[in-house]
Amino acid sequence: MLTRLSLNEERKPMSLMDTLKRWFGGQGSPPAAGSQPRETSAAPSVAASTQATPNASIRIHPAVDSGLKAGSKSFRGGTLHCHCANDRVEVTVTSQCAHNHVCGCTKCWKPEGALFSMVAVVPRDSLSVTAHEEKLEIVDPSAAIQRHACKECGVHMFGRIENTDHPFHGLDFIHTELSDDAGWAAPEFAAFVSSIIESGANPDNMDKVRGKLKELKLEPYDCLSPPLMDAIAIHTAKAKGIL
Ligand SMILES: [Zn+2]
Ligand SMILES: [Zn+2]
Repeated sequence: MLTRLSLNEERKPMSLMDTLKRWFGGQGSPPAAGSQPRETSAAPSVAASTQATPNASIRIHPAVDSGLKAGSKSFRGGTLHCHCANDRVEVTVTSQCAHNHVCGCTKCWKPEGALFSMVAVVPRDSLSVTAHEEKLEIVDPSAAIQRHACKECGVHMFGRIENTDHPFHGLDFIHTELSDDAGWAAPEFAAFVSSIIESGANPDNMDKVRGKLKELKLEPYDCLSPPLMDAIAIHTAKAKGIL
């Protein structure tokens, strides 16, 4: 037992935040090459005192700012398109998405002026590129999530994890706003909220940002939601032989 304890100490297990950084590359790492530094004007401005609510001026993401659209239980997927005017990359998904959320990390693709991305997962087997695959390139091949982006318009079409030891291997990340099909499951929470500061958001506005997220019923977390954090911890505990 003593031997085992000292072995464990020598291994210096990574902290949960270190693990998250390694797995998602979403916190603490510099922006990926080629990503544009965000304009300071994209940061939320302080609401004027005449606003109806103190958080009314905060723009989280165009898909949620005027309230969430409920998903359809019978929805079975749709097509996603990049933002090019011609020869659009098309991705077809044959399942409903899960764990849809807004994400404040520095790696997820965000539409112009939004503080957050909106990102969900689907089974890897349910996703295929159905048009103009030749326009896709991996944004950062060293990242745990390989984000396949359109070389022309820069939109991330899907994120894929190739490491079979990753707790979320088998799931692809998608942005449902790229689809005109109605019925995608609505976002459920906000992840990596504090990280928007790394993208240029004003730290003084964080109370308003969290307030707006709560108004939208998107519970703000500074990592992932409790069910996803539990899933990661269970995966890690099993890998260590603890569970
Ligand atoms: Zn494009
Ligand atoms: Zn993210």
